[in-house]
Amino acid sequence: MSIRLVTLSGLLILSAALIATLFIRNHPAEYYDRTEFLMGTYLTVVVSSENVSPVKLAAAAFQEIRRVEYKYAKDYGTEVMKLNSAEVGELVPVDDETAHIIETALAVARITDGGFDFTLGRVMDLWGFNKADTEKGVPDDDQLKEALRSTGYEYVRLVDEGGWFVKKLRDLTIDLSAIAKGYAVDSAISVIRALDGDATGYVDAGGDIGIIGPKYGKLPWTIGVRHPRSERADEVFDVVYLYDGAIATSGDYENYFIEDGMHYHHIIDPSTGYPAVSGAISATIVSSSVMLADAFATAAVVLGKSPGITFFPRNGALVMMILEDLSIFKSEGFEVYQTR
Ligand code: ADP
Ligand code: MG
Repeated sequence: MSIRLVTLSGLLILSAALIATLFIRNHPAEYYDRTEFLMGTYLTVVVSSENVSPVKLAAAAFQEIRRVEYKYAKDYGTEVMKLNSAEVGELVPVDDETAHIIETALAVARITDGGFDFTLGRVMDLWGFNKADTEKGVPDDDQLKEALRSTGYEYVRLVDEGGWFVKKLRDLTIDLSAIAKGYAVDSAISVIRALDGDATGYVDAGGDIGIIGPKYGKLPWTIGVRHPRSERADEVFDVVYLYDGAIATSGDYENYFIEDGMHYHHIIDPSTGYPAVSGAISATIVSSSVMLADAFATAAVVLGKSPGITFFPRNGALVMMILEDLSIFKSEGFEVYQTR
């Protein structure tokens, strides 16, 4: 990722995605801007091009994101349904795209020592976090333990150069929610670049952000990291400047409920089946791809400052965590992205 220090100018304008975890400020009128509710979040494309109509570029990006959503969404994604209905030991053919996503998910699971685990489908169903029609609530502990027995990324394999998927555990249910949005943003940016390699702007999927190109081709985008305990969705806790690459935040405030005075959130510790209590309430990852940033951010909330912190820089990602007492913990070098 290139790092250039250029002075940022202009007024701060709030992104349309108000509920976003991160929000980019500062986009001027010359940027075409479109927001839609997709993949369970507000998705914004901000794009400018001298060669192709930005309206067309944004439309192509949205079309791509919709395609990815209907392939990989947890309960209605065609590909996820196909993988989840596979029998134990059955070889299920997968295309290159699915192989790439599962391979990355497996790699992140290994790197984070299981902090990221994309097989928590049944556990998530019990908590009700991802469903509009299910009441969220603390599940019965026995049911949770039973569901937990059918999880584990180590029971998923890709064989023959990723052409086939095979699972080794009955009822194992894949949930790519913590990585699919990031992948969709990367893919939408590839589509835009294929139409115009010189286009600039960004794609923001509720705080999972990929940069198409620097503002006006030369300035960084200013990205606000949301205050994890503010009532206001637009209160900025810290700021990051990006010319390119990707950033994503996961936090315990994004999807939660309170029961008997306890705060239960949607990032689950795969070792317990319960919401992670690592001390990190928000984690922001800067990386080269939104897919990696998205998956690592989820893992960082599970792992917390220790041992999580060692995993990320070694794998091309820098992390900034906000801890329970609102202190900040950053990997070495993170400040580079906080200097204009
Ligand atoms: P959001 O989708 O709100 O941006 P994340 O990217 O952190 O947040 O993804 C959270 C979703 O990922 C949860 O709703 C759940 O479906 C799934 N998930 C929860 N815990 C884990 C985990 N430890 N590893 C992988 N996926 C998880
Ligand atoms: Mg994530």
